Amino acid sequence: MLTKLKFKRVFFEKEALDYPLGKKIYQNLRQEGFNIHFLKSHNRVTGIPGQNPREAFFQAKSTLVVGIRKNLQFETCKPSAHYQLPLVTGCEGICEYCYLNTQLGKKPYIRIYVNVDQILGEAKKYIEKRKPEITIFEAAATSDPVAVEPYSGALSQAISFFAKEEFGRLRFVTKFPYVDSFLSLEHNKHTRIRFSLNTERIIKTYEHRTPDLQERLDGLKKIAEHGYPSGVIIAPVILDAGWKTEYEDLLQKMHAYLKDINMDDFHLEIISHRFTTRAKNNILQVFPQTLLPMDEKTDRKFKYGQFGYGKFVYTEDKLIQMKEFFKEKISQLFPEAVIDYII
Ligand code: SF4
Repeated sequence: MLTKLKFKRVFFEKEALDYPLGKKIYQNLRQEGFNIHFLKSHNRVTGIPGQNPREAFFQAKSTLVVGIRKNLQFETCKPSAHYQLPLVTGCEGICEYCYLNTQLGKKPYIRIYVNVDQILGEAKKYIEKRKPEITIFEAAATSDPVAVEPYSGALSQAISFFAKEEFGRLRFVTKFPYVDSFLSLEHNKHTRIRFSLNTERIIKTYEHRTPDLQERLDGLKKIAEHGYPSGVIIAPVILDAGWKTEYEDLLQKMHAYLKDINMDDFHLEIISHRFTTRAKNNILQVFPQTLLPMDEKTDRKFKYGQFGYGKFVYTEDKLIQMKEFFKEKISQLFPEAVIDYII
């Protein structure tokens, strides 16, 4: 199943066509009528228009680059995993608070890597080095890789690879429900798929060009029905007036929709809204009309970070209320679920 990707332009590294996956993506995109331009290197992408930061951002979000991953040194990914698994970078979604907005520069185009065998071969080396310890890889540290999965198939390949790895595990988080190709795979419970959810109002207000809540719940239900370890990340939790009613409504909807499924390995992660000064400045450049609550003086305190920069988090009082609320509701509605953290 191919999805209606939102791309206005596609660039290919010439060497990508030497790989079967590169050829397959090329043919699929041509069939869909995309005009494909060739690049010398995926790191030098010229030809994305943009007179100002806002225009550059939106144009890049509609640009796909298909290339080869040259750097095979994996970044660490603490605390949820040991390493990042670099299959894709960037995302076609346009969430105002996306963590990638401060990481991928002014033109955050989407890159698919076609040398998946080589990337997984490298993962194998990391696993071998650490065994008999289990090594966990996160495939969504720099992207939402499910958004382009119908084109790349890279996650399916990775799920099949990890199914056979006694000492390796895969995990990724997504807002996109394109999971049908995962359902027939032998996964051996070695891949955990988490869905990122929020209230309908917050999705509509801030998570532009992403699937709605019901579509995400459909995706979650499918993978849980097929025995995948699963999970939900509710983030960012925004403590606007009426937040308890809205988040209770979200949890009730999840419960009503998922209650008949055996979710014996279901985890929850809850993350309150926070922002750095740098992120706030970037958001205001690209979304000058944003409704995101980013007034440092209202309900916020400054928290020093590990690497010298700090962020604005909710005040202690607000965070305590939030933690108590989620603990209570989750224990009522999902007594078997594991809460990884509420922060
Ligand atoms: Fe970022 Fe995820 Fe939204 Fe994509 S879906 S823009 S990765 S927050």
